[in-house]
Amino acid sequence: MIVTDIKNNLKIKGVFSMPTINENFLKLEKNYLFINIAKKVNAFLEKNPNAPLIRMGIGDVTLPIAPVCVEAMKKGADEMGVKETFKGYEDSGTGYDFLKQAIADYYKNYNVSLSLDEIHVNDGAKSDCGNIVDIFGNDNIVLITDPAYPVYVDSNKMNGRKVIYADSNEENGFAAMPDFSVHADLIYLCSPNNPTGSVYTKEQLTIWIKYAKENNAIIIFDAAYEAFITEEGIPHSIFEIDGAKECAIEMCSLSKTAGFTGMRCGYTIVPNDLKVIASNGTEVSISQIWNRRQGSKFNGVSYPVQCAAAAVFTETGLKQIHKNISYYQENASIIGKTMDELNIQYTGGVNSPYIWLKCPNNMSSWEFFDYVLENIAVVGTPGEGFGKNGEGWFRLTAFGDRDNTIEAMNRLKNLLKK
Ligand SMILES: *Cc1c(COP(=O)(O)O)cnc(C)c1O
Repeated sequence: MIVTDIKNNLKIKGVFSMPTINENFLKLEKNYLFINIAKKVNAFLEKNPNAPLIRMGIGDVTLPIAPVCVEAMKKGADEMGVKETFKGYEDSGTGYDFLKQAIADYYKNYNVSLSLDEIHVNDGAKSDCGNIVDIFGNDNIVLITDPAYPVYVDSNKMNGRKVIYADSNEENGFAAMPDFSVHADLIYLCSPNNPTGSVYTKEQLTIWIKYAKENNAIIIFDAAYEAFITEEGIPHSIFEIDGAKECAIEMCSLSKTAGFTGMRCGYTIVPNDLKVIASNGTEVSISQIWNRRQGSKFNGVSYPVQCAAAAVFTETGLKQIHKNISYYQENASIIGKTMDELNIQYTGGVNSPYIWLKCPNNMSSWEFFDYVLENIAVVGTPGEGFGKNGEGWFRLTAFGDRDNTIEAMNRLKNLLKK
C-alpha cells in the first residue's frame, strides 16, 4: 500500500515498487561482437592448445608510447610529489593551457586556427563521443553512416533517439554521402573510417557541410585516425573546410595516434561560432552548454598524462609517434599487397590502420571468420558487427607485430591459393 502525502506530493509510507530503469538500455542491440569473437577463439584454443594464433581483430595498438612521452610523464609525476609544484583539481577541468596551446599549434599545420577555449581535453574520444548526446534534445533525428564505430549508435539509442543510416557500401567506396531529401539534426562522420579505412575528400566533406547547413544540423566529426593519413589533400580536420565552424564539433584522441589507449587522453573541439536557437527563441552557444555539462560531470585529466600528451606535439614527439605510425602503415601495406595478390577487393590501409576486405567466395562475415580461425589460426573482425552494410566484409588491423603480420598473410595466401 502506498500512502501519498498529497500536500507535498511525496510517497510517505507503504510497499514501494523498485526503481525504474532507463528502458532504452533493454532495446539496445546486444553488442556481443568482441565477446562472441573471444568465445570462438577460446573454444578454438581449447581444441588446439598449441595453435600459433595471430590476433588481427581488436583495434588496440601494440607499440609502446614514445620516449618523450614517458619522460614528460615522469617529470609530471615528480612535480606531483613536491609541495611547490603539486597540482590538485585543475581550475577549468578542460585541460591545462600548455596542452591546449600544443593542440592549437598542431592544428595550424592544417591551416585551422583555434582559440584555447574551443579545445576541451578529455580522457579519450570514446567518453565525449558518448557524452556529447547529453546536451542535445532526445527528439533529434540522428544520422549515422553504416557500418560505424558502435558508440555513435548505442549512445543515442540509450536516450531513445531515432537513428537513421547513410549506407557506406561497395558502390560508394564505403564513403556514404547524404540524401538531401531526408532530414537529420545530428550527423556522425568518421574519417579515416573505423572500420572501413575509407577517407572523405575535401569535396565530399563540403557536400556534408552543405547538407548540415540546409538542415540546420550539427556534424560530430571523429578524427581519431587523422595521423594515419598519407595522401596529400585529404583533410585531417573538418575545420579545413569552409563553414565547418558553424556546424561541426570535432573529436580526436591520442589513443591510435600516439599509443595512448592505456594512458587515456583526447580532445574535443567545440567552435565558438557553433550556436543553436532554443525553443524560447534565445541563441545558445554549444560551447557554453558543453562547458556547463563538463563542469558538473567531469573533473579533468590527470596532470602527468597531460604532460605526456603535450610531449606528443613537440618536434621530437611528432617524429617519435610517426615512427610507430610508419611501422603500422608498413603492416597495412603488407596486408594490402596480399589482398592484391589474392585478387581480394578491399578499402583502407593507405590512410588508415584498417584493411576492410570483401570475404572471398561469397562467404558471410562470420563464415569467413570461422574459416580463417579454424584453418590458419588468424583472428579478424566480422564486418557485420559494425552494421548491416558490413555483412560479407571483414576487418584486419595493422596494429600487430611485423613478423606476425607477414606470417598471417603467408598463411592466408596458402589457404586461398589452393
Ligand atoms: C579508437 C577510437 C576512438 C578513440 O577512443 P579512445 O576513447 O580515445 O581510446 C574514437 N573513435 C573511433 C572511431 C575509434 O576507433
